[in-house]
Amino acid sequence: MQKKLEALRNSGTKYGGMHCQVCNDTGFEHFIAEGEIRSRRCGCMDMRMTLLRMEQSGLRDALKRYSFENYQAKEPWQKHCKEKAMAYAADPKGWFFVGGQSGSGKTHLCTAIAGALMLGGHSLVYMPWREDAAKLKTLDRDSRERLELLEKLQNAPYLLIDDFLKAAPDLDGRPRPTPGDINLAFDLISYRYLKELPTIISSELYPWEIANLDQATAGRIAERAGEFSLRIQRDPRRNRRMAQQGK
Ligand SMILES: [Zn+2]
Repeated sequence: MQKKLEALRNSGTKYGGMHCQVCNDTGFEHFIAEGEIRSRRCGCMDMRMTLLRMEQSGLRDALKRYSFENYQAKEPWQKHCKEKAMAYAADPKGWFFVGGQSGSGKTHLCTAIAGALMLGGHSLVYMPWREDAAKLKTLDRDSRERLELLEKLQNAPYLLIDDFLKAAPDLDGRPRPTPGDINLAFDLISYRYLKELPTIISSELYPWEIANLDQATAGRIAERAGEFSLRIQRDPRRNRRMAQQGK
């Protein structure tokens, strides 16, 4: 039986991305119980799925680029943001929110937090808001694909929402979240609020702008994030993308 067990451990598809000694990267843990060989899905699969998702979403490379070490903190506001982000990553219990100026490094900070959490063994799901919200809104309300994606976002031990409530430009050229976006935001935020699941959010909107769209959503974020709710004043000089183009 031991031989058979060994054979099982060395067979099957091997997954890449990380090494797991428990399942030997096969995704299944084989063991003997009550005189027979049993198998179960290995716990590393959740992390693999996250790594895979990060790879697919482009966050995998972003994790290398966007670390705390290479976040440039020259200005006092940058130092403040970095300190807060690092303090949160060191003790990630509540929520983290950063809103305001686009191109000011919000994604960088949130990605650095995600990287630190994953290194700490936490499982994290990355949600590029615009893409995932579009998908959830297009899919049939009761379709399996939609429910699975929603369930994954709702129950992720840690969820990183990038560009929360970012919407496609309206007819007048201004981005405006639709009622569908606002409902989705409320459903997701409310669910995670009630379950007390840590959530990291970046948004171009200030908390009060989110409150203008939906008071309840903004209130829940503010309550959970507390001192980890950061606001980056809109100022074109804080947009690194613009600054680089100007050079
Ligand atoms: Zn494993």
